[in-house]
Amino acid sequence: RTDEALLEVNNVEVIYNHVILVLKGVSLNVRKGGITALLGGNGAGKTTTLKAISNLLHSERGEVTKGSIVYKGERVQDLDPSALVKRGVIQVMEGRHCFQHLTVEENLMTGAYTRRDGRGAVDADLEMVYTYFPRLKERRRSQAGYTSGGEQQMTAVGRALMSRPEMILLDEPSMGLAPQLVEQIFEIVKSINENEGVSFLLAEQNTNVALRYAHQGYILENGRIVMEGTASELRENADVKEFYLGVS
Ligand code: ATP
Repeated sequence: RTDEALLEVNNVEVIYNHVILVLKGVSLNVRKGGITALLGGNGAGKTTTLKAISNLLHSERGEVTKGSIVYKGERVQDLDPSALVKRGVIQVMEGRHCFQHLTVEENLMTGAYTRRDGRGAVDADLEMVYTYFPRLKERRRSQAGYTSGGEQQMTAVGRALMSRPEMILLDEPSMGLAPQLVEQIFEIVKSINENEGVSFLLAEQNTNVALRYAHQGYILENGRIVMEGTASELRENADVKEFYLGVS
């Protein structure tokens, strides 16, 4: 891990429908090779921040009206979403978003659509995904719509991996999953980070689990970053303990 920032979000403001100010000047960095958690309650603006980065706000009538988003030194907020995917940044949406009628394996293969390095490399990566998610190998011929919530979350992360990303923006991986499965997903995120060098920005309401796996964290409240630090600094912070970890 280095201290180099791969992604810089500088003082970003987002407005929906020309009037609703949702992000009020958000700044954060994602370090190369790190796991950065973006924490906060329901409606704090986590999803909006991720969508601002991957330029997915337009379809929701949202707009970045101030600030800059810089990936590897390049201002990326005016690129279209696919251009960012080509640069190695991929978003895994909240709520999984698998293609319900495709099989698990077909879903994984859709992640490789931008690649030009040939079938052999893609097949090798499919095996790589199956080593992280053995369960998906067992389920590879099942229609995604008939697999469990946890399996669909794994499929969504696996599909992202198939694009050979440098950075994954992961929205609410714990949502709707039983605690044991949440732990399993985070363990896999950690090993993907360590073994493949993929950097993560993950939005989470589950502060407790996120701060056990992340290196850095930011806390978002009502469209503003109210606290930031290393994961251990945040875990030890009295306010975080009281308001986010439920201990005091
Ligand atoms: P959640 O965990 O519920 O996804 P979040 O922290 O990700 O919460 P956002 O989804 O970013 O929060 O929402 C932040 C605020 O922006 C909320 O008040 C929400 O109602 C508002 N908002 C989100 N999308 C839109 C939209 N398309 N138009 C108007 N307001 C929106």
